[in-house]
Order: sequence, then structure tokens, then C-alpha cells
Amino acid sequence: MRIANVAGRTTLIDGAGVGVDVEKASDGQFTSDPQMLFERWEALLEWAGRLDGAGDFQVDPDELGAPTPAPRQVFAIGLNYADLAAESNVNPPDTPPIFTRFFTKFQASITGPNATVTLPSNTVDCEVELVVAIGRGGSRIAESEAWSHVAGLMIGQDLSVRMPLLAGPLPQLSLGKSYPGFSPLGPALVTIDEVDDPDDLELGCALDGEVLQHARTRDMIFGVGELIARISAVNPLLPGDVIFTGTPAGVGADRTPRRYLTPDSTLTSYVGGVGELRNDLVAAPTLSSAFKPMLIGSSL
Ligand code: ZN
Repeated sequence: MRIANVAGRTTLIDGAGVGVDVEKASDGQFTSDPQMLFERWEALLEWAGRLDGAGDFQVDPDELGAPTPAPRQVFAIGLNYADLAAESNVNPPDTPPIFTRFFTKFQASITGPNATVTLPSNTVDCEVELVVAIGRGGSRIAESEAWSHVAGLMIGQDLSVRMPLLAGPLPQLSLGKSYPGFSPLGPALVTIDEVDDPDDLELGCALDGEVLQHARTRDMIFGVGELIARISAVNPLLPGDVIFTGTPAGVGADRTPRRYLTPDSTLTSYVGGVGELRNDLVAAPTLSSAFKPMLIGSSL
């Protein structure tokens, strides 16, 4: 099942882009609010499984919003692929705890799958990621049970202004990854039965057709199950929460010379079986004074 946010309304969508408006088709049994559907996730699945008939309108891709526009919690992890850790000259985190590798992207940075993104700096970097949304929440979720708590999969871009946050005495990543538009998500929420193997998905991104990243999620250091187990061991996961699962090698900060995102170009990102994001990039009228061009060698 694929669930999209079409102009702010929860919509089941088929492979041909034909939609069913969930509130209307259920006679109001389910809300139109895309973020609220997770509160009744299992009832929604049951209802959708019984739904007769095809959709009744063609979805306009320009009307797609983030499938999870307002999660209460957004988790992200740095250096979760061995090849990225190697190119960043950081030893892979082979032993717990991994607390220091988690960060957040603040909710207001979330945008839709085809949104135009303004670059506030000339050191904005891309990070294509598999993103999972939580259906059934919980604490201390066992790794073996973790996938049953996942509502579905999305593609995410963890856009970042590379700046020397790691150089100071209190390193933190969250603000530099939370400018408006820095968390495109979508194109729809795809349930895991729609993909062959949710632990082994191809993913990548390209800038105006030039491939920047290309990998498979089986190369994560901590897979989705272990991430959910480790996060929920500390912090209860809530319905509709989102987890960015890390990015593979190929980010601009690790290239020689460094290769950052350029205005008037298009960033495309994909995860096999999930779909594609397509984000046009434009320059800000003036660069953010807080982050004049500053370069660092570390990428997360
Ligand atoms: Zn990331």
C-alpha cells in the first residue's frame, strides 16, 4: 500500500498515480490529516484491505506533501554506512553505545517530495537516506520485533549546511540540518510488503544527472531493526515518528575538491521500490550571515 499526502489530505495511491481520498471513501471514519492516520494505523490497514474499487482521481505530483508532515519526534543517525565512515576518516562504530551518533532534524525542516529547496549557504550537502515511519509505538522494542512497528518507508534527503559545529567544545548537528526545506520526504509512505527485502534496498542520488551516491541499505552498520531497538531502549517511539537511517558514501564534503549543491540544479534521490524525490535547488537572495562559507572535513 502507498499512502500519499495530496494537498494535505491522506490519499491511497496506486502505481499509476490514481488516488482514493481516505476521509471521503471511509465516510469520515478516518481523518484526512496525514499525520493523524498513524494514531489508528492498524485500523486503517484493515479498512484499506477491504476497500473495493479503484481510485477516482489522478494525483498531481506538484500537490504531494511529506507523508509525515509533522512527526512528534525525528531521529537521525550519522556515519551508519562503513564506506561513509571510511571516507570521513572516522572509525566505524562497532561497539555500543552509539548515543553520540544520534541527532534530530527539527520538524519545520520537513517538506514534500517535489519541493523547491532554497540553499542558504554555498556549502549545502546532500545525504540520501532510507527513512522509516513508526506505526505502532513502543518502548524497549526487541530488534526481532522492530519491523512490525514500522508503518512504511520513504526516501529522505538529510540536507546539511557543513559548518564547523564539530570543531567546538559542544558539537551538534541538528540546527545545520534544519533549514526550511532541508528534509524532503516521500514520495509516498510505502508499506514493507511492497518491497522485496526491506533490509536490502538500492538507494542513491544525482545532481543534474551526475551520480553522487549509490549504495544498498544492507551495508548499514546498524540496520533498521537495531536502530529501532536502540532508540526505543532510551526514548519511547510514538506513532508517526520518523527515523532517518543514515547516508552512504559520496557526500560532497568528502570529495576532493569538495562538491556542494549548486543553485539552478535538480537533486533527484531514489530508493528501490519506494520511488523518487525531485528537488529543484535555488539560491537564497543573500547567504545566511550565520553560516558564511566555512568548510569542514567531516560529514554526518
Ligand atoms: Zn544523514
